[in-house]
Amino acid sequence: MRIALLSDVHANREALSACLAHAQACSVDRHIFLGDYVGYGADPGWAVDTVAAHIEAGAIAVLGNHDAAVVGSDADMNDTARAAIAWTRTQLTPQQCDFLRGLPLSASEVDSLFVHASAWAPEAWDYVTDVRAASRSFGATQQHATFCGHVHVPEIYHLSGTGKIASFTPIAGTAIPLTPQRRWLAILGAVGQPRDGIPAASYAILDEERTTLTYMRVPYDAAGAAAKVRAAGLPAVLSLRLLAGR
Ligand code: ZN
Repeated sequence: MRIALLSDVHANREALSACLAHAQACSVDRHIFLGDYVGYGADPGWAVDTVAAHIEAGAIAVLGNHDAAVVGSDADMNDTARAAIAWTRTQLTPQQCDFLRGLPLSASEVDSLFVHASAWAPEAWDYVTDVRAASRSFGATQQHATFCGHVHVPEIYHLSGTGKIASFTPIAGTAIPLTPQRRWLAILGAVGQPRDGIPAASYAILDEERTTLTYMRVPYDAAGAAAKVRAAGLPAVLSLRLLAGR
């Protein structure tokens, strides 16, 4: 089984379409979505419908903080994010809001945990951006591998049998063996709003038979997506981020 792991779509139709086509060309059998389908981008309804259609076909999807904010409270967000949430609320149907409300905070399967933000308190939306946070994450789950989004910058942490944690930035297209001797914490990059200085969409493919994880970068029509963000009247910084990838 080859599984596409996709996080932080952020209503970016052009980016998600490009990643789904890329995954199909890589013979992916299944999709797991790690949250934040809406917020920032211009196509929230399409993004929700696309994720919902994949669930019908056996996909897993967990809740992200932007998804939760649209159907709940946006009190913890900055002004730009809150402006996008307010606009997104005007775009979604009651059915699409119900879909977001029904998403779980995390999901487990075989020896893996899937969660948008952190393993220790998924609903707190903390960020795993250093070894200290990674240590907290490893302590909160027994799973061999944890897959998160939220940070928008790809990174892999691993824990040795003697308790040492190290990390590295994955190279796109290079398979990483998730060796059984170590435990793994993979921070996916963002499909729809990369922040590592590379505008190309980020996702990863988990090969369950070979037990490898391969990060992918997929160039897409970022200029088109950015133009739609501007046309929607969303904050200008959100269109500029797509072009710069940060
Ligand atoms: Zn996000």
